[in-house]
Amino acid sequence: MKCEYCDNPVPNGVTRCPSCGAAVNFQAYGEAPTSPVSPVSSQASGMAFVQPRSENQSRSRIVYILLGVFFGILGIHNFYAGRTYRGLWQLLITLFTGWFLLPLLAVWVWSIVDICVISTDGDGTKFK
Ligand SMILES: [Zn+2]
Repeated sequence: MKCEYCDNPVPNGVTRCPSCGAAVNFQAYGEAPTSPVSPVSSQASGMAFVQPRSENQSRSRIVYILLGVFFGILGIHNFYAGRTYRGLWQLLITLFTGWFLLPLLAVWVWSIVDICVISTDGDGTKFK
């Protein structure tokens, strides 16, 4: 590389130009920007998870409610309904904070609210 003040060659690793004594700014000579990762491959893999579901495979609301009442703090009813991330949150909150009573109660109330509010599964298919 060259000194940006006197244009004399500067060896790598030094902080001052040996010819003129100016501080050498290595950042100005930073490596070329790395080419951005193509988003095409990640999009293609995401499509593999989308699976069509026919109408007669819709989940039962009764089962959803029963699972929510008895296993709601573990998020089981949301796993059943295909709302995996929501169920995972409830499961993790219970596992990591369930030692205290209040978070446990909060997740249980959350699952009861789920039961009352949600009438479709994660794909938007209505419960039977
Ligand atoms: Zn110089």
